[in-house]
Amino acid sequence: MDEIVSLCKRRGFIFPGSEVYGGLAGTWDFGPLGVMLKRNIENSFWQTFVESRTDMYGVDAAIIMNPKVWEASGHVATFADPLVEDLVNRKRYRLDHLLEEAGFSVQGLTFDAMCDIMKREGLKSPDGNALGEARMFNMMFSTHVGPVVDDTSVAYLRPETAQGIFTNYKNVVDTLYPDLPFGLAQIGKAFRNEISPRDFVFRSREFNQMEIEYFCDPNDWERLFEEWLAAYHKWLLGLGLDATKIHDLEVPAEDRAHYSKRTVDIEFDYPIGRKELMGIAYRTDFDLQNIQRVSGKNMEYTIKGTNKKLVPHVIEPSIGVERLMMAVMCSAYMREIEVGGDNSTAGSSNAPAGGAAKAGRVVLKLPEFLAPYRFCVSPLLKNKPELVAKAREVFAGLKKKYGNVAWDDNGNIGKRYAKQDEIGTPKCIVIDFDTLEDGTVTVRNRDDASQIRVAISEL
Ligand code: ATP
Repeated sequence: MDEIVSLCKRRGFIFPGSEVYGGLAGTWDFGPLGVMLKRNIENSFWQTFVESRTDMYGVDAAIIMNPKVWEASGHVATFADPLVEDLVNRKRYRLDHLLEEAGFSVQGLTFDAMCDIMKREGLKSPDGNALGEARMFNMMFSTHVGPVVDDTSVAYLRPETAQGIFTNYKNVVDTLYPDLPFGLAQIGKAFRNEISPRDFVFRSREFNQMEIEYFCDPNDWERLFEEWLAAYHKWLLGLGLDATKIHDLEVPAEDRAHYSKRTVDIEFDYPIGRKELMGIAYRTDFDLQNIQRVSGKNMEYTIKGTNKKLVPHVIEPSIGVERLMMAVMCSAYMREIEVGGDNSTAGSSNAPAGGAAKAGRVVLKLPEFLAPYRFCVSPLLKNKPELVAKAREVFAGLKKKYGNVAWDDNGNIGKRYAKQDEIGTPKCIVIDFDTLEDGTVTVRNRDDASQIRVAISEL
């Protein structure tokens, strides 16, 4: 994990938020390469689940919503985590995390049961100090809308993008009247005042979600749930995630969110351990019924060609962009190992095998469609104007066609290859003296470092 965090910073994928002022816990900024990788991930999501289907549409709702949304959804009352405080240094922790780290299983435990274990076992803080009374802490960020700061102006930053979809369900039905089942997708920011943000971007206070609410007849939910689960597995594999590191966890009733009748978490074996990458929940008609009750507006859908009306039920696949980006990078990250100094490549691993091994080439083996840059173009020598001019011409042609093409004339060619390997550029194109003679260039392949000559016209 440390190697990936360092790569992210060194090469401009992800920086700590507000770093120049000492940072702000739980916030991260995307640099130039991170933005490109993030966009490519989001585009893949949109292409796979919206554009290539006939039953899916997009929405993009406001982040600050009427506070009634969060009362109706149950977030004001129940969107909380158990908080405990170190009585000496006042550091705050999530009680369930402390219990897990102390070897207790917290699956299915109520808040009271966790408090009982804490007291019975005399649980201490990670610094060895006594802990205070635990309490539930609501994770929504609040703010005030308008110039008056009082109880009537309180609003929340959305803790999930889902409610922006539910509140627009009726607008979409009234304007498009799609056939049931249909789904609405949204990509956007979500905010949670996590008690202890940690593990790089895995647990942040501001992050991005890609969520789908799939509206259906309640009789179909079981089949559709399985279909969505399978569709996400297929997509995750296509992003390069290792199948052996992906696991489905059937979440027991006691651990499910207040709105869910079935939840499967898809977990991933990160270097920090097996953790939730995403969830698929059967939210029943919980949200639309709440909206109907609180707003007084009818949320029924009339089945086309009949008089049958129903409030649709919902399957919700929800995934965080940053958690997915981490899984993608961890899956793509390879450090080759040179055994016994004879330069033979022993394979790719995250840990050197044996004392004689030394670290070799670092390669980010991202699928081509996710790589920040598709190609990197270089003149072999920077100080030969005829090579630079030809290379600029090739660069301009590829850039026009692909957009995400890098230019690199820094350092020697070996250093350029090493840098492009680290940021995952699949192909490096080098213009040399032969290019001026016969119009061919060297194309060097990231994954096996092999090289071929190709005519510029065939690039
Ligand atoms: P966790 O149990 O890890 O706190 P959760 O079950 O509360 O996560 P959901 O409410 O299901 O998460 O949110 C859907 C998805 O949003 C998660 O699967 C995850 O990918 C992402 N997500 C949730 N919280 C965070 C966070 N603090 N930082 C980054 N991504 C997050």
